[in-house]
Amino acid sequence: MNGDIAAARSVAELRQRIGDWRARGNRIGLVPTMGALHAGHLALVAAAQAQCRRTVVSIFVNPKQFGPREDFATYPRPEADDLAKLTAAGADLAYMPAVEEMYADGFATTISLGGPAEPLEGAHRPGHFDGVATVVCKLLTQAAPDAAFFGEKDYQQLLVVRRMARDLNLPVDIIGVPTVREPDGLALSSRNVYLSPDERRIAAGLNRVMQAAAGEIAEGAEAAAILERGIAELNAVGFRVEYLELRDAETLAPIADATSRPARLLAAAQLGRTRLIDNIAVRAA
Ligand code: AMP
Repeated sequence: MNGDIAAARSVAELRQRIGDWRARGNRIGLVPTMGALHAGHLALVAAAQAQCRRTVVSIFVNPKQFGPREDFATYPRPEADDLAKLTAAGADLAYMPAVEEMYADGFATTISLGGPAEPLEGAHRPGHFDGVATVVCKLLTQAAPDAAFFGEKDYQQLLVVRRMARDLNLPVDIIGVPTVREPDGLALSSRNVYLSPDERRIAAGLNRVMQAAAGEIAEGAEAAAILERGIAELNAVGFRVEYLELRDAETLAPIADATSRPARLLAAAQLGRTRLIDNIAVRAA
């Protein structure tokens, strides 16, 4: 043993390791990721460790959740760095299946979603959430964890996974973890490495504009004019905003203000070749 984290690359290996822990009665947490790990991912690992005796981190760049013109081929895959980070964090097992292990020849099953998967990311990235749900359902079935941990950074994804787990009676607690940010407010993301130094400076504007809008809406203002102004401001500094919207925090239904229901402000914007998403709670004053 050199102290490095154990790694499993097949479902059989994964199940064998987890089976040993389960036989001892250990509560098991799963943290699904696509790798290129940063402090946001490590916050999920820490949350899992706080609640579970054993923490399994999956690293799998899932081809089914990328669109044909998206960055599947170029998505960063720094495997040795990722394993070093997981070792330092004290995670118990890295699960790193190859694409062929996850999707054997002839694979023909997809989870198809409605409800919270339809608007926003669902409308802008057709098929994305079906791909996410399919791989998350497989990971949950392969590892059979007691709890699985997802970041609020991908807030809609968290709601979609919760809905799927409930609808399919998957016996797992789905736990959301707050977004980890850079000091200037930019949400940590594996895709931030695509940003040029200029773009990196501009990128902080997304959260800044969202915070300002959320503040005004929290005081009871109608969202429409505020969001229109926010979109114009972002587009003026170089973003191409796909959406900036106020939604019901539980159903993602559109809402006009934040006076009666918990609300969430969600955004997606292109900056150069990088697509950024962010979201924040809007708390009525
Ligand atoms: P990804 O590797 O981008 O698929 O993300 C894997 C998990 O980490 C997802 O549940 C994400 O929501 C979560 N995550 C990514 N970035 C952050 C962040 N900045 N803060 C908290 N969680 C994050």
